[in-house]
Amino acid sequence: MSEPRTLGDLRKSAFSESRLQDRHVKDEIRENLMVKLRQGGSIFPGVVGYDDSVVPQIVNAILSRHNFILLGLRGQAKSRMLRALTSLLDARMPYIAGCEIHDNPYAPICRHCRQRMVELGDATPIAYLTPEERYVEKLATPDVTIADLIGDIDPIKAARGGHELSSELTVHYGLLPRANRGIFAINELPDLAGKIQVGLFNIMQEGDVQIKGYPIRLPLDVALVFSANPEDYTARGKIITPLKDRIGSEIRTHYPATVEEGMAITCQEAWTRRNGTQLHVPKYVQEVVERIAFAAREDKKIDKRSGVSQRLPISCMENVVSNAERRAIRHNEDLVVARIGDIYAALPAITGKLELEYEGEMKGADHVGRELIRSAVAKTYDDYFSGVNMQQVVQWFDLGGEIQLSDSAGAEEVLESLKGIQGLMEKLDKMNVNSKDSAPTQVSAAEFVLEGLHAHKRIGRNEERLFSAGEKTPKKQERSYEGEEHPYRPRRTIN
Ligand SMILES: [Zn+2]
Repeated sequence: MSEPRTLGDLRKSAFSESRLQDRHVKDEIRENLMVKLRQGGSIFPGVVGYDDSVVPQIVNAILSRHNFILLGLRGQAKSRMLRALTSLLDARMPYIAGCEIHDNPYAPICRHCRQRMVELGDATPIAYLTPEERYVEKLATPDVTIADLIGDIDPIKAARGGHELSSELTVHYGLLPRANRGIFAINELPDLAGKIQVGLFNIMQEGDVQIKGYPIRLPLDVALVFSANPEDYTARGKIITPLKDRIGSEIRTHYPATVEEGMAITCQEAWTRRNGTQLHVPKYVQEVVERIAFAAREDKKIDKRSGVSQRLPISCMENVVSNAERRAIRHNEDLVVARIGDIYAALPAITGKLELEYEGEMKGADHVGRELIRSAVAKTYDDYFSGVNMQQVVQWFDLGGEIQLSDSAGAEEVLESLKGIQGLMEKLDKMNVNSKDSAPTQVSAAEFVLEGLHAHKRIGRNEERLFSAGEKTPKKQERSYEGEEHPYRPRRTIN
């Protein structure tokens, strides 16, 4: 299907004057959203966990034709949500070819286009934009200037064209005018200097702005969306009041509410499909990886104001898979099964994503990271083995048994030693693993049990991953342990 290339042809097409002239971008998004709502199904496919919270509020903001802001901690998919708005733009949008601000062919705002239309009439050339081309994104930083955002007077342009300096023909457009008839997203809005916020407000309110003292009229048609950290945004003096006033809706984002939701996001986002090897990440490994983030979000040693990004479990999972992959390549195994040891090996993907409080700084990121893994292992272990008597296994270690489970050890070589631990392998049926399963699968499951016992301090393990007897405790206490409440809460309380 060929698209009209001149204004004359455009008039006769589906992009008629009556349809396009007053179709502002917010109306366009609203209309396309209403079509989607009527069709039912997901408004923003691929966004997990926001269906009952964030998505309905965004829908309302769009239906209200609001500029809106997403308030949330880092790694809550704010930018992703904003980018997803492009799915509500028309597939193609005609504009006057060559216009830097993508003028509406039926209502051009720049003088250059108006002049051309007088000269060319129906022969005025038309070009088209895709939704992605109509999305402009800017990370706010204190050094963003009016010139970056709105524009600058270009004296060379003025000299060449013989224009007055203040003529709009001499303006070199910034990001916002270039987003005309599209969506303009500013991330971390509070980092924008007050003066720039005023400029932004003037454009939103009046379509007027002063550049270097010259008044410029630019009645732009832009859907403005923002993101910010909630504490920065509400801090007094960070956002000028008139701008705040013009942001119609404030929408709070959040981290996944349940471990299952977190796992779904991590599974979707992490790069785990590697070529060459057959890979399996057991559910308990996925659960532990996800619970590291959940534990970190509640840990006093970690800064609550900046949050713990969902990118933590995502990059952790990628590193877990890589460590398992490395082991499989080394031992020439066809099947890669991730283990808890791989999670400890993924520490480099965890520590950098933790903003530590003073106490955490004192202990060091590595220590904090390891403690998080350990607590995540303990909780996950309880899900599978709560109430299961592991006395026989513990006793084997108490009687002097030791086993080394290096994360680089091949499955075949350690499986035999694991079988030597009395009472261990038959417990794996709780995880639906039995002697018919592959060696890597059995080893991973058995190692999970040992890591779980270690996380509960019932057996010991050193840095070289040598499992041995736990620290000796008086007999009396040891006996009463089974009856004690678990130090970690069961899963149902995590909601
Ligand atoms: Zn124009």
